[in-house]
Amino acid sequence: MSRYHARITGKDQAALADLVTKHKVTVARHTIEKVHGGYRVDAHATNAQIKALEADGYQVERLEDAEAQGKVRQAETRAQLAAPHALDALSVAAGTGYLDVAQIEAALAAASAAPNDAFTKLIKLPHPTWEKRTCHALKIGKGSAAGRPGIYLLGGVHAREWGSPDILIHFVQLLANAYTTHKPIKIGSRTFKAADIKHVIESKDLYVFPQANPDGRHYSMSTESMWRKNRRPAPAGHSKPQCCGVDINRNYNFLWNFPQYFDPESPIANSTDPCDYEVYIGPAAESEPETKNAVWMFDTYPNIRYFVDLHSYSEDILYNWGDDENQSGHPDMNFQNVAYDGKRGIANDKAYREYIATADKKIAVDLAHEMRDAIKASRGRVYKTEQSMSLYPTAGTSDDYAFSRHIVDAKKAKVFSYTIEWGSPDNPTPFHPPYPEMKQIIDEVTSGLLAFCIAAK
Ligand SMILES: [Zn+2]
Repeated sequence: MSRYHARITGKDQAALADLVTKHKVTVARHTIEKVHGGYRVDAHATNAQIKALEADGYQVERLEDAEAQGKVRQAETRAQLAAPHALDALSVAAGTGYLDVAQIEAALAAASAAPNDAFTKLIKLPHPTWEKRTCHALKIGKGSAAGRPGIYLLGGVHAREWGSPDILIHFVQLLANAYTTHKPIKIGSRTFKAADIKHVIESKDLYVFPQANPDGRHYSMSTESMWRKNRRPAPAGHSKPQCCGVDINRNYNFLWNFPQYFDPESPIANSTDPCDYEVYIGPAAESEPETKNAVWMFDTYPNIRYFVDLHSYSEDILYNWGDDENQSGHPDMNFQNVAYDGKRGIANDKAYREYIATADKKIAVDLAHEMRDAIKASRGRVYKTEQSMSLYPTAGTSDDYAFSRHIVDAKKAKVFSYTIEWGSPDNPTPFHPPYPEMKQIIDEVTSGLLAFCIAAK
């Protein structure tokens, strides 16, 4: 079934809310703009959805056929794999196409071998995926002094967002090479000094888990490029192909059972329907092996105090919270308080807003600005720094789960948490742009992550 990249304009915010709740369209939550005639959002929709939207009074600007163009991206990736040097170098900087599932794993293993073995360690995640793949992460850090802050970088959660694992592999390759050669890293107009890189590796622990959903990535790269979820088999009695899979980034244990917690009128971008193409939350919180692996990292490495989850697209750096707008005046108005069940997830109201302490918000925003400035220094793209909540709230996401851990259990570390949505909505196939553009994105996000690791205390 063809899915089109499109810009959709609704006459008001209520019409935009209906895009998700009524029309089940895939929207890029943070691309909403006020335009002549209403509000416009970047989106992906099937032919049937576009026809229904037009009949309902929406203006739809149809862009490329995402599945047809996705087949072109798939062919480019296969051509890159067939090149003679493909599995030898594994260098993202030298590459001409996206790394596939096996290459990501091979690059991680290579990054843990000599001469990097003095400061890296390969971590085997305990939960095999539905298709029996084993995932790995990489710990980077030399020394073991108490109080070292941990920084956790996650990628590849959403299958079609092909660039995130490549970004993290590039980040690892660049950082390890700079450390072993005592050289600075220069990206655009920004220079990361050799002394700063040495300090990161010798006084902090980095945990890089680049490919959290390999089953989904393989399916998106080989079959259906727009696939987002994992590959959990469809429940009995659900035979349509889209009834496979769970959205890992709606499966975390944060307000997971959203019908209980949210206002029935909230345009929350979550679904309890296994056949939802995008945002099925799964049969239980943390039901999926991919989610369990991502959580296992937090539990196993309790010094993790910073977390970045890479996604695409819209050129955004998002900080907590995603369930409702932030407030700092009423600590009792929070996600654990049952008195507010049924009231969450409405934008621009006062019935419920999520609590974040003023000091925490300042740290969250300051670090987001560090990333934004370093991204801009690469080639001038300006990522917006903003709260994750938009017209479309979320529940069960990694960033809110990570920051909620210390509130639910005071013995756990406070984890400042971000989602980066890399890449412009102006790119064709913005979830997996043509690789020459992706390489520029890889550079700019790597720059942001380096600045983040240096600034995180
Ligand atoms: Zn995503």
